Amino acid sequence: MKERMQRFMAGRYGNDQLNQFIFIVAIISMVLEIITRQSLFYTLTLVLLILAYVRVFSRNINKRYEENMKFLQKKDMILNKFCKQKYYAAQRRNFHIYTCPQCKQKIRIPKGKGKIRITCPKCRTSFIKKS
Ligand SMILES: [Zn+2]
Repeated sequence: MKERMQRFMAGRYGNDQLNQFIFIVAIISMVLEIITRQSLFYTLTLVLLILAYVRVFSRNINKRYEENMKFLQKKDMILNKFCKQKYYAAQRRNFHIYTCPQCKQKIRIPKGKGKIRITCPKCRTSFIKKS
């Protein structure tokens, strides 16, 4: 049985990160179908599972590999964007961003320090702001 399976899988693509992702989305869709009883999720689950199996058994290994690479790049991009947004949100909570009236340099000032004199690190202009 194991040998038969190995012979069957020879020259076929197999599993990858994109397929794992497709399976996870399929499972989520299946759960949503059970909860909401919407046939849309049933169809989606079916389509995703078929897609994943077609990829696993595909003989066009280069194409599947490319798809996976594109998927990983997109995933990285989205994760990066998400991290950046979290970072900026934290910055906005703890800092004021002021713009130098002279050179338009953006200056980050911690919040809650009362009125302070800010000196622009770029052009040395100083101005007073409430922090
Ligand atoms: Zn300046």
